[in-house]
Amino acid sequence: MQCKGITRTGAPCRCTLNVSAEGYCLNHDPARKAQAYEVRAAGSRARGEAKQRLKETLAGSAPPEPKSLEDLAKLAGWVARQTFTMQMDARTSEATTKALRNAQLIYEKRDLEQRLKAALKELAELRKPRRVA
Ligand SMILES: [Zn+2]
Repeated sequence: MQCKGITRTGAPCRCTLNVSAEGYCLNHDPARKAQAYEVRAAGSRARGEAKQRLKETLAGSAPPEPKSLEDLAKLAGWVARQTFTMQMDARTSEATTKALRNAQLIYEKRDLEQRLKAALKELAELRKPRRVA
């Protein structure tokens, strides 16, 4: 049975789970307001606790801040491990991976700039007129 309730957007509620004999889901049942509140509060607590656990886990095992492409590779591997073992949620993993990709592009550009500077310096040295003894 589908809930007879109306959502905040004005659309009919499509919930079919835990619908009362009167035809309302937990969220729309006027007779179960306290129970609905408890369920939402428990969910909120659980999410807060999970977030805190994640923070502690990640903070305790994260490699140091990356300073090189090698560090980035290590961090990417760590993120993959954390994600595969369900220590890190997909959203955090995606955001971290994006940040790592940006850092990779920046580091690659920085490294190329350093190599270009060195090459230009070497070229300038080669172009200097040489004194013949
Ligand atoms: Zn409903």
